[in-house]
Parts: sequence; structure tokens; C-alpha cells
Amino acid sequence: MDCIKNNKNGAELVTGYCAGTLDSSVAQEIGVHIGGCSECRGEVEAQRAVWDALDAWTPVEVSGDFDARLYARIAQEQAGPAWLRWLRRTFQPATPMVWWKAGVSLAAAGAALSLALLIGHLPNRTDVIEQKATAAKSVPASEDVDLQQVQQALDDLDILTPASQSPSSKL
Ligand SMILES: [Zn+2]
Repeated sequence: MDCIKNNKNGAELVTGYCAGTLDSSVAQEIGVHIGGCSECRGEVEAQRAVWDALDAWTPVEVSGDFDARLYARIAQEQAGPAWLRWLRRTFQPATPMVWWKAGVSLAAAGAALSLALLIGHLPNRTDVIEQKATAAKSVPASEDVDLQQVQQALDDLDILTPASQSPSSKL
């Protein structure tokens, strides 16, 4: 037979072989193959090692009254007014709050605020366009055609550029 690793059902074949649930003819084929193929023998041995480890593992004993205590605790958490539950969740969270993450969020918010203030100080788009239009009018007539083209291009760009874009894209 071909290598088990190249078979699309290879994983099932290996687990089935280790579990002894395969048809005896298939199991026999695999047995013959892994006798001569170290790669596939390695797959089977790895699978057996996992199962041996799982067999050797004994779960931690749970105390007899674990369920009763768990449900009592849940009932206790759900009792009481909503604000008390909120306080408990906030100050005794199941996952402890990581304070440096909160700090990073604050820093990001500060950076966004600084950017917003900076944008507020930049000249707005219509001012810039008006300045360019004024400059175009004051130039001699010989260059009128080119400047009209430039103005047209600026207007087209203004239509194409969303108003929400960053200040660096302004004209
Ligand atoms: Zn093989």
C-alpha cells in the first residue's frame, strides 16, 4: 500500500490502527507497511505515545460537594442589586484587568485628540482652493489655458477626494 501519510484518510487510519477498529485486512496491510516504512511507523508510534500519556493521566479528584458549592456561589453572585453585581465584576473580575493595556488605550486616545487639534489649526480645503483660484486670475492671459486646466484638475480632485481624508492629502 501507499504511505499512510500520503493517504487523505491517513489520520483516521493511524488512529483506527492503534485503536484496533480497522478491518483486519486493512490493519494487516498497515502492519506490513509500517514494518518497512519508518516514516509511517513513526506516525503510529507517536499516536500510541499520545494515548499512553492520556491513559497514564488521572484527573484531579473533585470534592463531593463541589457542585453544591458551585451552584451556591453562582446564586450568591446573581443575588443582590445590579449595581452590586457591577461592582463585583469590576473589582473582582474573572480575568484580572491589565493596567498597562488601559494605559495604551489612554495614550492612543491622547494621540487622536492631538491630531484632531492639529487639523483644527490647518487651513480648510475651501480656503486653499480659493487661494489657488485667485492666483489663477492674477496671471497673464497667455497662461490662461494651462491654469484653467490646473483649476479643472484641482476641482476634479476635490470631487474625487472624500472630505474625511487625512490632512496630508489636502491640496
Ligand atoms: Zn509509509
